[in-house]
Amino acid sequence: MLLFSVIFITGLAFIVWASSDIGSGVFIKAKCKNAEFPKGLLLTFDDGPHPENTPEILDILEKNGVKAVFFVTGTEVEKYPEIVKKISERGHLIGNHSFSHSNFFPFFFKNTILSELQRTAEICEKITGKKIFCFRPPFGVTNPRIAYAAKKLNYVTVGWSVRSKDTVLKDSGMILKKVLELIKGGDIILLHDTVDGSVKMLDKLINQCRTDGLEFIEPVKFLSGE
Ligand SMILES: [Zn+2]
Repeated sequence: MLLFSVIFITGLAFIVWASSDIGSGVFIKAKCKNAEFPKGLLLTFDDGPHPENTPEILDILEKNGVKAVFFVTGTEVEKYPEIVKKISERGHLIGNHSFSHSNFFPFFFKNTILSELQRTAEICEKITGKKIFCFRPPFGVTNPRIAYAAKKLNYVTVGWSVRSKDTVLKDSGMILKKVLELIKGGDIILLHDTVDGSVKMLDKLINQCRTDGLEFIEPVKFLSGE
């Protein structure tokens, strides 16, 4: 009985880890960093577009000559199509982050997951005229049903190696400190359009990284390498 419990709990712990850690690689081989760029970085912004923050982020990126990836959700794309157009026109990459970003997304049937991704892709592609090829699962959760949908659409699944914890920290100084503590060459940095603090520290983050000898790589180039 004890042995059974130990095996059961260990198995359960493995499944929880494999699903919740996008870098585990158990269900999906997600791209979480790129060793081909020992001094290179990739900035990613999730959960947008946001009516005020996203345009502000775009201006900061433009001023600094940095290109990033925006993992957008279909519900927000429907509300702010002109911002999605602007993201694309400024040369940034748009990635799929589901339609609803529902808390139950990981529990959906595989065909529901697939149709959420297809719906978001269709709206984005209609707005930008460009095909989406990358995907970040909501909450970074992966499982066989999400893997099925990503494979079906031929998506590159993108994780991260630096989690800013911006949705929890909220304060710009604390977010900046957290990211700078963790950052090294080859990293993919996870930020959110929805967090004001991340917008406020963005200019400082870019400048500090460059002072430290790091550079921001064009997203398609960064994601196509190993
Ligand atoms: Zn998200």
